[in-house]
Order: sequence, then C-alpha cells, then structure tokens
Amino acid sequence: MTARILTGREPAGAQRAEVAERVAALAVDGVSVGLATLLVGDDPASAVYVGMKHKAAVQAGIKSIDRRLNADASQDEVDAAIDALNRDPEVTAFIVQLPLPRHLDTDRALLRIDPRKDADGLHVLNLGRMVLDLPAPRPATPSGVLRLLDFYEVGVQGKDVVIVGRSQLVGRPLSIMLSHKSRNATVTVAHSATKDLAGVARSADILIVAAGSPGLVGGDYVAPGAVVVDVGTTKTDAGLAGDVRFDEVVEAASAITPVPGGIGPMTIAGLLANTAFLAEAARDGVW
Ligand code: NAP
Repeated sequence: MTARILTGREPAGAQRAEVAERVAALAVDGVSVGLATLLVGDDPASAVYVGMKHKAAVQAGIKSIDRRLNADASQDEVDAAIDALNRDPEVTAFIVQLPLPRHLDTDRALLRIDPRKDADGLHVLNLGRMVLDLPAPRPATPSGVLRLLDFYEVGVQGKDVVIVGRSQLVGRPLSIMLSHKSRNATVTVAHSATKDLAGVARSADILIVAAGSPGLVGGDYVAPGAVVVDVGTTKTDAGLAGDVRFDEVVEAASAITPVPGGIGPMTIAGLLANTAFLAEAARDGVW
C-alpha cells in the first residue's frame, strides 16, 4: 500500500480564505484587525515562523505588528512588552513566539497575556474553556491537526488515536480536544516514559506524532492502513525533518502528512482563525 498524502496547502488555503472574508466583514463593521508577534532573541527558525505569520496575516487583510526584544531581555522587559501589547488598541490579538530563551519563564509570560487578545489560545483561561469545549481561541497546532483530518474526511469518532508527545502546546490540548464528546475518539498519550512505544503506536487507527525527535517513528510503529500525522519539525542540516520516517511509513499507512507542507501551514491558518475569532468576540461584547 502507498499512503495518500494529506498536504496542508489546500485546507490551510481554504481556512485562510474564510478568515479573509471574516476580516472584511469586521472592516464593514468598523473593526480593524491587528495581529502582533513578540519575538525574544534571534533564533533563526523562530524568526522564519514569525515572518510566515506576518505574511499570512497581511494576505488575510490583517494588520501585522512586529515587536522584538534582545535574547538577553529580562523577564521584567518581557512583562512590559506584553503589557504594552495588552494596552495597544491597534493590537486585537498577539502571540509570544515560543520557545522563549531558557532564562525566561514561559508560563509567567503566557499568563500575562490578556486572554481576550490570546491568539495562540494558550492562556490558562482559554485552555480552561477548551477543556470544557466552550468557544475560545484554540491552540493553533492541535486545531490545525483536527481541521486537516476534517478536510480529508478522516473520521475520528470511535477511533483509537495515539498521540506521541504531551506538551502544553501540542499533545496535551490535542488529546483533550479529541476526547470531547463532539469528537469521541479514544485517546492514548505516549511520552518518553512510555513502555514499548512501538507497540502502543501500532495500536492506533490514527497516529499523531509531536515529539520533536527526527525519524523516531518507522514502519514498525504503524499498523497497516493507519493514518499518520507528523507534527514534528526539527531544523537539521538537510532541512526541516519530521518525527516520522516518511519513506518507510508511506508504505504501511493509508494516509500521511508530509514535513514540510503538512501541519505547519495548518498552524498558521489556525492562528489567523483565532485572530478573527477574538476580533469578532470583542465586537460582539462576548467577554
Ligand atoms: P516538546 O515540548 O519538546 O514536547 C515533546 C513531547 O514529546 C514530550 O511530551 C516528550 O516526552 C515527548 N517525546 C520526546 N521524545 C520522545 C521519544 N523519543 N519517545 C516518546 N516521547 C518523546 O515539543 P512540542 O512543542 O510539543 O513540539 C513537538 C514537535 O512538534 C517539535 O518538532 C516542534 O517543532 C513541532 N511543532 C510543529 C508545529 C507545526 O506547526 N508544525 C507547531 C508546534 C510544534 P516527555 O514529556 O516525557 O519529555
């Protein structure tokens, strides 16, 4: 069997077009939408991701605002930059680009974001709403995974889904979103202490890998006919590498996402959708 390739280009393009329409409708109501990014330091991969987010925002009619701090910025300086974005009326949503340099406290930074401007959906209040399946900006990568599966009509209802990785950013929120009654998947979350990772992975109808460990998952991790979603993106000398050995797994799976060009574009589209959501919520006085 050779797997169907589930690229992110088409579903992300459709979602971005939808966002552009929502932004145009907001403009008719006198609301201009502004998405800011706060980048601390000079990590080249983060700078590339921020650049992609700005370009996509502008294409959707969203004003793009770029704020940067030096790699040695103190936590107080980061706090002050976040406070300024919280106050800025031109900024209707913003993100703090992760990862932050090691000396900074990520949880403290995320908690300081006004939840009404939380474009990544990572503030504890929005994560809480997500747990309850209430309307809120959703973490962009997990919602991008779900939207891609929806687009390609990969049903999750009643399926055994194994997620490799339990980070706050990807694995854990995705596991909760999949286990909601509205999705009804049976979810297993694997991590570095999981015994027999290959055996657990082989039990999956749908295997989602978000470990940041290039080439971790080979053909022996995949049941024949499973759907495989590779969230991993690690910068290597040979370019961006996923967590899945694509050449092996493509022979076992029924469908697989590529790296690059799979979940990456979905994450950006999800961020723009959150930005539109937050502007609409502010317009409608929801919060
Ligand atoms: P993270 O915070 O480092 O978390 C990685 C998770 O994977 C942890 O739970 C870790 O287990 C687990 N893990 C790592 N190596 C493992 C192994 N050998 N066996 C089993 N579990 C293992 O990373 P993240 O932020 O979730 O990101 C994961 C990957 O997704 C990275 O490559 C990142 O670049 C990529 N990513 C891509 C997008 C996109 O848009 N495409 C967006 C976000 C992230 P422990 O908890 O036990 O340490």
